[in-house]
Amino acid sequence: MATELIEGVWWFDLRGVNAYLVEDGDTLTLVDAGTPLSRRELARDLRDLGHGFADIDRVLVTHYDVDHVGVLNRVDAPVYAGATDAPLVGGERRPGVTGRKGLSQRLAAPFCPTPAGPVRSIGDGDTVGSFTVVHTPGHTPGHVSYVSERLSVAFVGDLVRESGGRLEPSPGLLSHDTAQVRASIQRLAAALPEVDVLGMGHGVPFERDGHERLRELADRL
Ligand SMILES: [Zn+2]
Repeated sequence: MATELIEGVWWFDLRGVNAYLVEDGDTLTLVDAGTPLSRRELARDLRDLGHGFADIDRVLVTHYDVDHVGVLNRVDAPVYAGATDAPLVGGERRPGVTGRKGLSQRLAAPFCPTPAGPVRSIGDGDTVGSFTVVHTPGHTPGHVSYVSERLSVAFVGDLVRESGGRLEPSPGLLSHDTAQVRASIQRLAAALPEVDVLGMGHGVPFERDGHERLRELADRL
């Protein structure tokens, strides 16, 4: 189901993982791309808003994981991903097998589709439309967040997750480096403008005072 979080910013609840759609003027931006099993649901949510996969102008990927890149083969548009994760998203590099995270990525790699569009590598401080890229490594080495002060939204992927109304760091079991996750939360919280919407990869996104919620979490760590 598609839920509008703030004008032009939609949350797609894809059963266990979130994707987002941003309508900014004529430009349609998809943020993360669900699991390979999300195609129908994503198509339906897009259709409910009067769109199809063909209307998407670009995809902002927060990180390389099977539940965030699942339908990239359906979207013939540029795909943006953090520099370290981009070769994995594009299929030019296979995940390493060092550590639990690498191993789980290696096992899931056969299920990650090759994107239909070109993959563009981005880094800290780059801009895509009204979004500024913040490198927030930890869950994966190339994990990035996308912040738009103008739209009052931050998409933070799996840097954090929401559970029972509470924000928590990405779980250690699923992360590449938990100390790095905490450092990235601190850094993003300190740099984040006063955005309302905080959209994470898992859980219920915050519609109001998202920046404050992230700062509260940073203070707790
Ligand atoms: Zn995830």
